[in-house]
Amino acid sequence: MAKMKKQSTSVTGTNLLHAKNHNRRAILDAVRRHDGLSRADITRLTNLSAQTISNLVGELEEAGLLLAGEPVRQKRGQPARPYRLNPDGGYAIGFQLTGTQIDAVLVDLMGEERCQLSRPVNHPDPMQAVDLLVAASHDIIAKSQLDPARNIGIGVAMPGPVGIAGPTGIAPGWEGFDLAGIMSEKAGCPVFVENDADAAAVSEKLYGTARELDNFVYIFIGHGLGAGLFLDGRIIHGAKGGAGEIGHIPIEANGRPCDCGRKGCLERYVSLLALYEEFDAAHRDDLINDQSLTHIAALSPDDGPVRNWINQAAPHLNTTLQIISSMLNPQAVILGGLLPDPILRALWKEVIRLQNTSGPTPTGDTLPILISDGNTYSAARGAAALPIYQEMIPDFQNMLKVRDNA
Ligand SMILES: [Zn+2]
Repeated sequence: MAKMKKQSTSVTGTNLLHAKNHNRRAILDAVRRHDGLSRADITRLTNLSAQTISNLVGELEEAGLLLAGEPVRQKRGQPARPYRLNPDGGYAIGFQLTGTQIDAVLVDLMGEERCQLSRPVNHPDPMQAVDLLVAASHDIIAKSQLDPARNIGIGVAMPGPVGIAGPTGIAPGWEGFDLAGIMSEKAGCPVFVENDADAAAVSEKLYGTARELDNFVYIFIGHGLGAGLFLDGRIIHGAKGGAGEIGHIPIEANGRPCDCGRKGCLERYVSLLALYEEFDAAHRDDLINDQSLTHIAALSPDDGPVRNWINQAAPHLNTTLQIISSMLNPQAVILGGLLPDPILRALWKEVIRLQNTSGPTPTGDTLPILISDGNTYSAARGAAALPIYQEMIPDFQNMLKVRDNA
């Protein structure tokens, strides 16, 4: 589900947090970027009138979103109070939903992670998933001991495309399901849905290795394979939200059969499931059924089957990166997803080795290949960023190109 949907009806108790106002967002964004601004500084940075700033800063302070420090003496004029964001002013919950697991993070206004929670699930249908996610959101709020009324919203990252119900998707029955709308009703707060690769790309842009980049592609190696396309400063979704669904690129003629009905799809070689297939039957079942990914975390890149997988996956991944580089001209490609760090690093090294042996591209450039900053919670962290930055960055909608559910 690559399209992002939002439902803001039945929001209760947090109206002050949610007053949709561009000027409020402009103030929060200014203070987020420059700690300790005075009202005069904010007025200058936002180009709003002093009276508007005075009113809105007062409102935001009263709402607990801004904190005022002790007045500081100025070169001229009256001492001025410095303002900063109140980290406890609000928080959001981000989920990463797969067919077998829910991972949740609770992130405060400053982007700091306050709480984590994981629990196994068994290929839930959409309504079961709504109940599980709403229950998990109550549980993580209770675990954090934060005020339930300060919850700004929920973001859900999930694999796409939802239309494919194989082992890399969640389960059958998700086609066209309005998860954001229905979950928002039940949870009583805004809910945003984004595909896992796009959410991980947002996390990388806001908190990780891509902070300074406006053009990058995030390769999300999960049970399947997807790419988050962050180009010219925004996430690209495509006509039906399927942009970046690279898992079903036909990479090998008459190759391994895929659940999509075709043969030789990229994710049949580059994915967790492809890695698992390198093991004998008993081991493979252990890995597939291990919902918390602890079995795979115990593997080493030097284990025979893991090495075999890397040797098969790396050339296909290298070819894919060359295609991506030619088509989209990103500043960098970032590898991440659900692989444990040592295995991800070994795959990354092999891809770089292959890239070096294939020589420079026709334009003479080498595509920088980076490794994700985040852990396996990166998609959940990106999902949590969706409601927070919706509140705080004036052009965040533009960056995500949020689409109405038309
Ligand atoms: Zn396929």
